[in-house]
Amino acid sequence: MKTRPCIQCEKGTMVLDTRPIQAALGDLAQQVPDVHAWFCDHCGEVEFADEDGAARYSDAMDALTRQAKVLRGQEIRRIRRRLRLTQVQAGMLFGGGVNAFSRYERGQTEPHRSVEQLLHLLDRHPELLPEVQSQAESRMNGLNQEGG
Ligand SMILES: [Zn+2]
Repeated sequence: MKTRPCIQCEKGTMVLDTRPIQAALGDLAQQVPDVHAWFCDHCGEVEFADEDGAARYSDAMDALTRQAKVLRGQEIRRIRRRLRLTQVQAGMLFGGGVNAFSRYERGQTEPHRSVEQLLHLLDRHPELLPEVQSQAESRMNGLNQEGG
């Protein structure tokens, strides 16, 4: 079996082999079978030995990225429904406009991180929703008055 020193960790030995590798993104993971690559026995570094393995790994990462978007959209929908808001109401309340939540929930666009954090906070503390709503209302009233 072919070996060479690992330039990544400078301690391990890399072995040319065909093994399954794991593509991982956050909590999601997918196995890519039969990847021909150099594997370090010390630091776990993987260096693809051919285009095929690299391409299949890249495809697996793309699939995980799509899956993560879908899951994020489903999570946003679940929280919005739990708060008993329509997509339009949620868009008015959290900003982004009337179509924002439709886009978020289909995974077309991602909400700003602050919106997502607020949604997760309200998921744990739905009793805070009236406070958020009254703040949004007074902000809207303020805008209306400024508009004359
Ligand atoms: Zn190494």
